[in-house]
Amino acid sequence: MAFELKDKVALITGGASGIGLRFAKELLRRGVTLADIDPQIGQTALIEIEKEFGASKAVFTKTDVTDIQQFEDAFTKTVETFGYIDILFNNAGILNDSIWQKQIAINMNGVIHGMLLGMENYLQKYKQGSEAVIVNISSIAGIEVLGFIPIYSGTKAAIVAMTRNWGTPEHYQRTKVRVIAICPGATHTPLIFDIAGRNLGEPYQKILDSHLPEHLASEVVKLVTNGENGTIWVVEGGQPAYEFIIP
Ligand code: NAD
Repeated sequence: MAFELKDKVALITGGASGIGLRFAKELLRRGVTLADIDPQIGQTALIEIEKEFGASKAVFTKTDVTDIQQFEDAFTKTVETFGYIDILFNNAGILNDSIWQKQIAINMNGVIHGMLLGMENYLQKYKQGSEAVIVNISSIAGIEVLGFIPIYSGTKAAIVAMTRNWGTPEHYQRTKVRVIAICPGATHTPLIFDIAGRNLGEPYQKILDSHLPEHLASEVVKLVTNGENGTIWVVEGGQPAYEFIIP
């Protein structure tokens, strides 16, 4: 049976900006917790959501995903606020190889914290229906050789491997949590503009104008509904998502 999004509750890390915020807007029927390290953009996101959707079903919680206690607090707040949790979007991430320890802590440890807490505890216990879903955000950089961001690429490749290994039938049987990963291509958000502005120049920025988080978020909605457990999906600007099969 397809996973109906109506009335589902989601926790979205890095949910105050870019892809996470756009995905939150796609889901705002029941409840969404935006868990982000930056309270300023968190408040702006809530105001933006309220303007677009009226009475808001979104809450913000200041969360650093590198701290497992803060991550757990975000789960607890979600369950206390909405009564349930059905979807975890492990989305928080940075792209900066020059602060690689921090990048590893956010991009990898943050996802591991979400997997351990979500898969082994909250999503098992507090889902509304028969199944819950975790979406991990990897990147094209995690499956292709881009050459100029090796450490970021390593963090994103690890997410692919973890998703495949947590997304086995055995884990699903035990937890009833489906796990999928998405690998976006370059997408028009503050994160990519940082490197694009510095390294890649104007032609690249023009390409980004057609690679919007809206498109990515609506493809993620389809995958949350129908994506098979343990599968990896590529979502590039304007194109429908396609499954990445490891050769
Ligand atoms: P973004 O900068 O708009 O959003 C990232 C969010 O993560 C920000 O709101 C930031 O405050 C938050 N964050 C940073 N550190 C955090 C921490 N320790 N704890 C909690 N939140 C934290 O960028 P985005 O492009 O929307 O990025 C979302 C995800 O998409 C990232 O994991 C990124 O690697 C991935 N991604 C982005 C692109 C792209 O081109 N934009 C491509 C592939 C993958």
